[in-house]
Amino acid sequence: MLADNLKQVEENIEKACARAGRKREEITLIAVSKTKPVSMLSEIYHCGIRDFGENKVQEICEKRDLLPDDIRWHMIGHLQRNKVKYIIKDTALIHSVDSYRLAEEINIQAKKVRRIVPVLIEVNIAKEASKFGIAYEETLQLAEEISHLDNLTVQGLMTIAPYVENPEDNRIHFKKIKELSVDIAKENIDNVHMDILSMGMTGDYMTAIEEGATIVRVGTGIFGARN
Ligand SMILES: *Cc1c(COP(=O)(O)O)cnc(C)c1O
Repeated sequence: MLADNLKQVEENIEKACARAGRKREEITLIAVSKTKPVSMLSEIYHCGIRDFGENKVQEICEKRDLLPDDIRWHMIGHLQRNKVKYIIKDTALIHSVDSYRLAEEINIQAKKVRRIVPVLIEVNIAKEASKFGIAYEETLQLAEEISHLDNLTVQGLMTIAPYVENPEDNRIHFKKIKELSVDIAKENIDNVHMDILSMGMTGDYMTAIEEGATIVRVGTGIFGARN
């Protein structure tokens, strides 16, 4: 059953790539497994998925001990500074950096384990009060500030677009994030790369791919609805 869901998502990704003239290899699919049991993650793992996204530190810690070592864990949720130390060692990418203070703590902990940790800056593109992320206008400045930290490296931007019935309504937000990443890339800041755009979820990942997403984060479309 999960294999069928995954197949459907894969077909949709390929359709979106074809429409946008992009290659399938440019896109990484993250299976967002928050709230789902390890047995379901294991099923999807055996379908070939190696990138998993979780939004709680505790859930990453519990699940990674029970699953194979070659999984790349993505921290996609709001990250509290006092919990950074628990995931610093084996998180492939932290998607949710939205303040200098958080970046600073990641830097301190990364230094302790001698890692250079890849991060994305989370942008609150639609200025929703309910969402984390930095304002569009402040993103470049934050990237500049973070660039001085030696034990992390900015790889791009992440956004959580509003919940909409029609994915077309989010196209404008995805376009804006893409433009912002191009503008920041032009600044040529040391240690700041704009290679990754993490945007698009179950409701709108095809639109996000058409607008330049390199990572899509799909939960419901693979694992079914959450309780
Ligand atoms: C839950 C979550 C997703 C996946 O949402 P779906 O609509 O179930 O695909 C993606 N990104 C983030 C940051 C999330 O918290």
